Amino acid sequence: MKKYSSKINKIRSFALSLIFIGFVVMYGGIFFKSNPWLVLVFMSLGLLCIFASTAVYVWIGMLSTKAVVIECPSCGKHTKMLGRVDMCMYCNEALTLDRELEGKEFDEAYNKRART
Ligand SMILES: [Zn+2]
Repeated sequence: MKKYSSKINKIRSFALSLIFIGFVVMYGGIFFKSNPWLVLVFMSLGLLCIFASTAVYVWIGMLSTKAVVIECPSCGKHTKMLGRVDMCMYCNEALTLDRELEGKEFDEAYNKRART
């Protein structure tokens, strides 16, 4: 079975990994010290990753304001969900806002499928 996690958590870890990639790329520039142009290219690529991650963080902030806060039936904590189906941020319990989908097996495709 595929492992799902909350969308907000997923985007957050993506932003975090972008920061790490940015630093690794900038650090990689050190190995090309003899060529200042390559160092410059690596530095700007690294900075670009870090800027991209900042942008993703801003995006999460905007998404969070639109997310619905609900109480998780499984762990009782308040979690935010996006779309028709999502996961609890704390215990990965499948959550849905749609009565039709209640009790059905969790499938992220429900978010993409248009309402009929
Ligand atoms: Zn929960």
